[in-house]
Amino acid sequence: MPFATTNPFTGETLKTFPTATDAQVVEAIGAAHQAFRSWRETSFAERARIMTNAAAILRRDSASLAAILTLEMGKLLSEAKAEVELSAAIFDYYARHAEALLQPERLPVADPAEGEAMLVYEPLGVLLCVEPWNFPYYQIARIIAPQLSAGNTMLLKHASNVPQSAAAFEALMLEAGLPKGAFINLYVDHKQIELILNDPRVQGVALTGSEAAGASVAAAAGKALKKSTMELGGADAFVVLADADLEKTTKWAVFGRHWNGGQVCVSSKRMIIVDPVYDAFLEGYTKGVAALRMGDPFDPETTLAPLSSQSAADDLKAMIRKAVEHGATATEVGPEAPNHGAFVRPTILTDIGEDNPARYWEFFGPVSMLFRAKDEADAIRIANDSPFGLGGSVFTSDPAHGAEVAKKISTGMVFVNHPTMVKADLPFGGVRRSGYGRELLDLGLKEFVNHKLIDVVDIDAPF
Ligand code: NAP
Repeated sequence: MPFATTNPFTGETLKTFPTATDAQVVEAIGAAHQAFRSWRETSFAERARIMTNAAAILRRDSASLAAILTLEMGKLLSEAKAEVELSAAIFDYYARHAEALLQPERLPVADPAEGEAMLVYEPLGVLLCVEPWNFPYYQIARIIAPQLSAGNTMLLKHASNVPQSAAAFEALMLEAGLPKGAFINLYVDHKQIELILNDPRVQGVALTGSEAAGASVAAAAGKALKKSTMELGGADAFVVLADADLEKTTKWAVFGRHWNGGQVCVSSKRMIIVDPVYDAFLEGYTKGVAALRMGDPFDPETTLAPLSSQSAADDLKAMIRKAVEHGATATEVGPEAPNHGAFVRPTILTDIGEDNPARYWEFFGPVSMLFRAKDEADAIRIANDSPFGLGGSVFTSDPAHGAEVAKKISTGMVFVNHPTMVKADLPFGGVRRSGYGRELLDLGLKEFVNHKLIDVVDIDAPF
């Protein structure tokens, strides 16, 4: 796809960007490799200073940076500002903690003859990150803040519909004092990813995106014997138990499904409600969804953003039609969509039978699947009946019991009485088709370092 800014609210293409040539790609790899030679030797204090600067620039320019997000992918301006702040918080986190988290660790060996064994963490080199459009800044921060803090250098292939967001981030990192070449934004197409991964100077790839993109890039990485992490799709269960406070729960459900236009990997996409409260939940939820206001994402009165592009809206409508062909009931809720913009009217899907393939799909937009569970055990069964394993939530007035239920849900993250939350100091990642590896905290920091053993052995002789 060519790189272009197309406003999803007006449909207007505002700016296009040429795809990099192969020669430019190879040159960028060389520059990132060159930068790595000195960046790996840079002190933690200096790296932290640059991370702190990046956070300060994000906060200083929050208004203008947020406007680029709203313009390019249509999220509400208030959500765009929150994303800028979240990205800043991630830089702060690593500025504060990277050095301590990467301290060498003494290993408690059983036999003194094994010597004084230590694990040290060394950066690997140039890494590629492939990122999606739904959180154009947060996704960059989530990977470059830890990896730059660890001493690696980064190439970015961002989604083709957010070229200005990508360029703005590259510019702010340079302004923060990052050496030239340590983070390079490249407008590359899918084929050029292989060119990058086959280069011996590139050591790995972190991708966030769809299963299809993940499978393709992971295969290319595997072929080149390069490490990869995959943050892929999700269909988070939102489990409502019989003792849940329904007023509070329905409010969180409306938010959990519709923030960021419903285009979040950890959106609450499958509401699973136990039978005794199903009807009351459906009534409250429908009312809450009907109150959402679609409109211009720059207008503070708007509460439901357009989708990122007209093709995303068309694809989602086609998925709804297919779900209905397989027996589901689709109920459109609330006012008609505006007569322009990439909108999909909020839709609640019910009667999704066990044989309906749609129950295993990820609907990336304001489409809610509702399931009636016989009881708690059935709710857990439905929650786990998914190819995905990213996040999820359990709503109950007994939090201790909620935590027990959370243990039975097979995903990377489960929240009690809250939709899956995204923060600078909580880890992120999933299992099964939601991918592998973790981002954030020490887990993300140590995904692309050499866990190297240094062992000082001082014994006389082998015999
Ligand atoms: P996408 O189409 O997979 O795009 C993600 C990135 O991968 C883009 O940069 C895209 O580039 C690139 N890409 C797509 N197909 C590729 C291929 N065959 N080879 C190489 N690169 C390829 O995903 P999206 O529609 O932007 O984002 C939505 C998906 O991301 C959802 O499934 C969502 O759940 C998931 N997501 C996951 C997380 C997480 O942390 N687990 C977070 C956010 C989103 P182009 O734009 O040039 O195609």
